[in-house]
Amino acid sequence: MREHVLLIGGGGREHAIARALADSEADLYACAGNRNPGIARIATEFETLETTNPKAVVDYAEDVDATIAVIGPEAPLEAGVADELEAAGIYPFGPKEDDARIETDKAFQRRFMEEHGIPGCPDFKTFDDMEAACDFIDDYDGDLVIKPAGLTGGKGVKVIGDQVTPEEGKAYIRDSDYDRIVLEERLIGEEITIQALVANEAFETAPAVQDHKRAYEGDEGPNTGGMGSYSDATNELPFMTEADYEEAVSIIEATVDALDDYRGILYGQFMLTSEGPKVIEFNARFGDPEAMNTLPVLETDFLDVLTAARDGEAPPELEFADQATVCKYAVPEGYPTDPEAGAKVQVDEESAGDALLYYASVDERDDGIYTTTSRSFAVVGLADSITEAEEIAEDALAVAGDEGLHMRHDIGKPDLVQRRIDHMNELRG
Ligand code: AMP
Repeated sequence: MREHVLLIGGGGREHAIARALADSEADLYACAGNRNPGIARIATEFETLETTNPKAVVDYAEDVDATIAVIGPEAPLEAGVADELEAAGIYPFGPKEDDARIETDKAFQRRFMEEHGIPGCPDFKTFDDMEAACDFIDDYDGDLVIKPAGLTGGKGVKVIGDQVTPEEGKAYIRDSDYDRIVLEERLIGEEITIQALVANEAFETAPAVQDHKRAYEGDEGPNTGGMGSYSDATNELPFMTEADYEEAVSIIEATVDALDDYRGILYGQFMLTSEGPKVIEFNARFGDPEAMNTLPVLETDFLDVLTAARDGEAPPELEFADQATVCKYAVPEGYPTDPEAGAKVQVDEESAGDALLYYASVDERDDGIYTTTSRSFAVVGLADSITEAEEIAEDALAVAGDEGLHMRHDIGKPDLVQRRIDHMNELRG
């Protein structure tokens, strides 16, 4: 029987997953809170529903006779959608609620690393008393990072010594209504993402990607869900060695071993420091934007990964094209603090030229596609080098224009990449 794959989620990441399954021997069904026009064009059917409501998802999965479900975002994982799908006899590729705590509860995540002796864990302390946390900031020798324990879409973290002063950090803690936070050692280095596909106690990793969380060029401004990312034609990025990649993979391996039959994506976000990679966080799903770097160069059929997982096998050995990728998001003007929705999107999959276009949170109306208050769409260039891939992405952004939109033109440009290399060289002395 032909597989019926249900894709859950409607962002750029899920558009990339949809495209990775478009040529597979499967019928694709999709559901999300927003109608993603790119996914809707690929899928046999697209249903708008609340993806954090497990019953709504399971009902739809049963309606379309889904055999496998791929859960894109973290919110449905946290809501237990994988648990309910499995209870209904539908194989979910994505961790159960309890296992997803590796992402959804940062205090749990740090304690898990400590208890299992997983290497690469920064010094940390968890607090449910906010005044005690403020005292700790006063007494600590060095800069700390303030992390709400729960999900904040990557926007709740404050780095003392970079984004805020200690006084501003304490004011942030006191003014927020967080009931649990983690304070941890500020790590200095370059950030990298390595995503692993995990099933049946085995895993396979993808090439390293560098995401850019800050809203403005030069890594200024507030944290966002991610403004864009690049990867190179090898597993490593230009400022990394093969040994750095292998060391990060060994941290992922120790984590997979410590987890109990985890299944889905395990995304490691690392700070490559002068002492090697340290863990910034783990996520329980593909990165968004990173999925748009990884899946277009994945030559292995993604359906084979899903069916192997479902059939109790290790993931197939992954093959990636030797191509660099540069992904750039277009977001509404004012994003993330004061986003203005309602601009008409001037580029589509055809006019994007050599770039791939992935839709995120947009609103499809009779007369076109309009921005909402979240990230709008991303363009991805693929080429032999990061520089060429960046030019391809920029050509597509030129078609889109910048009316009502903001993008970071610096991502993937030679200057930015060189600064990363210089930074790492300086740290390594
Ligand atoms: P997270 O939500 O944990 O990914 O954190 C958001 C951003 O905060 C990361 O992308 C980093 O830039 C920064 N960050 C988080 N933890 C640390 C840390 N321990 N040291 C330095 N920067 C950090």
